[in-house]
Amino acid sequence: MDKCMISSQFRGLSGISSIAEANAHADRAAQEKGENHILRGTSGCIFDDEGRFVMMKTVQRAYRQLVPEQIAPYVSELDSYLEDCMSQCFGESRPDGYIRACTVPGSTGALHHAVCGYTEPGDIVLTTDWHWGSYENLCIHNGRRMEQFHLLNDRGTFDLEDFARKVGQILKYQDSLLILLNSPANNPTGYNLSAKEWTGVVHVLKKTALSGKSVILLCDVAYLDFSGEADECRQFFRCFSDLPPNLLVLAAYTMSKGFTLYGQRAGALICIASTRREADEFVRVCQCMSKCTWGSCNRAPMHVMRALCGSPSLLKDLNRERTENRNMISRRADIFTREAKVSGLDMIPYICGFFITVPTLHAKQICSILETYNIFLVPLPQGIRIAVCSIPLRQMPGLAGSVKAAANEASTLNFQGA
Ligand code: PLP
Repeated sequence: MDKCMISSQFRGLSGISSIAEANAHADRAAQEKGENHILRGTSGCIFDDEGRFVMMKTVQRAYRQLVPEQIAPYVSELDSYLEDCMSQCFGESRPDGYIRACTVPGSTGALHHAVCGYTEPGDIVLTTDWHWGSYENLCIHNGRRMEQFHLLNDRGTFDLEDFARKVGQILKYQDSLLILLNSPANNPTGYNLSAKEWTGVVHVLKKTALSGKSVILLCDVAYLDFSGEADECRQFFRCFSDLPPNLLVLAAYTMSKGFTLYGQRAGALICIASTRREADEFVRVCQCMSKCTWGSCNRAPMHVMRALCGSPSLLKDLNRERTENRNMISRRADIFTREAKVSGLDMIPYICGFFITVPTLHAKQICSILETYNIFLVPLPQGIRIAVCSIPLRQMPGLAGSVKAAANEASTLNFQGA
């Protein structure tokens, strides 16, 4: 009999996500019926109201002006790029502390370094029950485990109590804990932690750090630029000022969404440390991990970043385009939210961002029914993800009603089958 030659750590894993699967179903239907006859709510990229992929014009122009030397060589760390990432990330709300950054290929690379560099093999990593699916795979692929706490309580606000309880519970058995929090514009719910909720999180972590345990908080801010007014949505970073020893904050910054450069793979892992030693160690270790994993990152987007950040007028154009896209997405979400209320469809409180989520334990079944109506959405373990970033406005009216009808159909089938 054939022996499995894959290392035991990777056996049984698959890179095919429910997102890729739903998208493949949509591709098949589009080939048969034409793209205009289906509703595709699967993609985490922005599409305009004509159904065209959006790469922001300001970014396109900067890209076209690059010369070969800015595109093709290997990159050694470009300090100007890292400075630009930090200013794009924090804006006016740069916290006080030792802040350094390391180049990574998007937030996925940042998450990889946080998981591998700041946890031991076998450790538990903590995140919210509503999270981007890759978090778990990133932990498992690297020999770590993931546990969850409730993002939201019964009042539909951040569940600080469950967070504090879980942190305490895990640190009974571990000396150190990495926590992944995706806000603002959480994927898949569109939830934002308020300034008060962030302060609550930091309070719990400071108390924990003072007790001698180590805590590393990674803020996944992938959707930052589409989460609200530029200065206002960055204010929460200020609560990471003056951290005590044993508490390290990391920000996973990416050009994927904020520059619509998803496949170009550029970002930065930024640390806010309480000591210079910790910050220096962060840079040294991250640079070494980069060399041992992807080697070098893509140089072209780094020069796009420099071109835009070096010009106040281009930056203004970029921010204007971001606002236009944010407003476009928000108009779509408004229709869904309004109609969900009218049709009695339950949804997770949406504030902003690329996705809306309908909670249900029958997501797979409901999505299969929706596919018979030529509607393609992503089934998650606890709900259905609707990518409002990719659905043209004209297709929004009636969508909540269709999801409700499919949910009713599923419950009738389940009732008959019971
Ligand atoms: N974090 C979240 C919450 C995401 O939804 C995504 C992508 O969809 C990422 C990170 C990964 O983005 P990147 O392309 O920067 O690796």
